[in-house]
Amino acid sequence: MKVLVCNVGSTSLKFKLFDMPGDVVLAEGKVERVGRTDAIFHYGNRGTGYTVQLEDQSILSYAEGIRRYLDCLTDPENGVIAHVSEIERVGFKTVLAKGFYGIHELTPEVLQAMEDYLIVAPAHNGPYLEAIRQIQQVLPGVKLVGVFETAFHTTIPKARRIYGIPYEWYEEYGIQRMGYHGASHGYIADVLTERNGGTGNAISCHLGGSGSLCAIQNGISVDNSFGFSLQTGLIHANRIGDTDAYIIPYLLAQGKSVDEITKGMDKQGGLLGISGVSNDLRDVQIAAEGGNERARLAIDAYCAGIIHYVGAYYAELGGLDHLVFTGGIGENSSLVREKVCSAVAHFGIVLDEQKNAQRSTQARIISAEHSKVKVWVIPANEELGIARRTYEYQ
Ligand code: AMP
Repeated sequence: MKVLVCNVGSTSLKFKLFDMPGDVVLAEGKVERVGRTDAIFHYGNRGTGYTVQLEDQSILSYAEGIRRYLDCLTDPENGVIAHVSEIERVGFKTVLAKGFYGIHELTPEVLQAMEDYLIVAPAHNGPYLEAIRQIQQVLPGVKLVGVFETAFHTTIPKARRIYGIPYEWYEEYGIQRMGYHGASHGYIADVLTERNGGTGNAISCHLGGSGSLCAIQNGISVDNSFGFSLQTGLIHANRIGDTDAYIIPYLLAQGKSVDEITKGMDKQGGLLGISGVSNDLRDVQIAAEGGNERARLAIDAYCAGIIHYVGAYYAELGGLDHLVFTGGIGENSSLVREKVCSAVAHFGIVLDEQKNAQRSTQARIISAEHSKVKVWVIPANEELGIARRTYEYQ
């Protein structure tokens, strides 16, 4: 079955066409700056190695972006399929819908439920709703499947999901800890299972522009550092992470508007907010090396959040077999991995300094032979996770 996986950003669209169940990527594509006349379009045929990158393109909608990609896929010379009707399913890395937390066909009811939580995940649900509605028109009759980022976390016990809020808020509005990054953590569970015959007790650290930790026991999620919204948990690139809810009424009383507060929490917080330098850890690291105290503080605060959740999950899991780093920061920052692992060395973690410093795009173990806990770096592959779940969907 040909499964198209579609990853929607606020101004970007990424595609991968899979041949399932073999996990084979046939072709990939990317549109950057959707909605502009200087959009960048990229297409690559994995089999032949043919790639094309076109700049200054007028791609004014998601629909135009997908049409361009479909033209490439069916091109007689550089395409990989004869006709778009070969695409049987499209899988989306959707984020949140009220009352639909697993894997669902994107019916009008599910789209309405995404609309209901637009205010909780504005940066994600808005673009997805727009893109899904347009893709429905471009590919009529094709089954569209939402692999919600909450899906992998539906196994988290209720006692860890419930907030200490009036129970009616949970019943009426669905307010609870959701857990996100399910496609990434689910893929990590798949890799550990393939390599070890099971996950045992594992902690998956997805550290990228946004970050979360997931406690995995025997293949299923039992905790995740995200709460109700994606503003919670770890410090993110721009987003604040865990904070005290009473900061908000206090700031309102000081005369700040709701817009100013949400902008501060969404866009001006996180690594950028603390460091005052950048939302990109690479820039923050360079500034810290140059003696910038706030940049150092941002890195230490970022790592402190990770260490906090590793400790909590070690307790919840009752021990640890695997500690996994993934995502742009998890895969590339040996500094963050070293800081985290040295802080929790008493859990039986011994990092191999050389292996930690090496760069590779392959999944690898970076702990010493005698380390009780195996420490891994596993490149994120959320698209494959989405393709597998979309293919399996009944
Ligand atoms: P992602 O959201 O998973 O694509 O991760 C993007 C983030 O990874 C960037 O914002 C950087 O902060 C971080 N990153 C990428 N490469 C490096 C690197 N070599 N060292 C430190 N951080 C990196």
